Amino acid sequence: MSTAGPLHDPAADALPGSTTEVKTTTCYMCACRCGIRVHLRDSGDGPQVRYIEGNPEHPLNKGILCAKGSSGIMKQYSPARLTKPLMRRPGAARGDSQFVEVGWDEAFADIGERLRRVQREHGCDALAFCQGNPVMHNYGASIYAQSFLP
Ligand code: SF4
Repeated sequence: MSTAGPLHDPAADALPGSTTEVKTTTCYMCACRCGIRVHLRDSGDGPQVRYIEGNPEHPLNKGILCAKGSSGIMKQYSPARLTKPLMRRPGAARGDSQFVEVGWDEAFADIGERLRRVQREHGCDALAFCQGNPVMHNYGASIYAQSFLP
């Protein structure tokens, strides 16, 4: 059994030369919008999220966070998160999980062409826009998706 301490101890002294700051905001991982306190540390290379905790003064969650909200830091720093669009590798079959990274311009051009093709071949009513989480809170997606709808 490991006796190592936690990866991050929010009560520990700040690293020498670094500053810490706590920002009060809400969790964006689902529609509940629980109140959170985000602990930031700046060691000279810009502020980085180090810890997220529930805000006990928030009227909705009163300091309680679910597992997803507690792991919100992974949304920022997980090495597994996607940072570029992926397209299926040419020649790979659907379900083969073979992808290549492409630029945003190429990805948007490809998606736009596919959507226009659906409209041309099947009419405007062939497209639907599902506005669930997290798009529900994304004004950009809400506005631009309208351009494909009749
Ligand atoms: S802490 Fe959990 S329940 Fe609350 S907003 Fe975040 S994801 Fe939703």
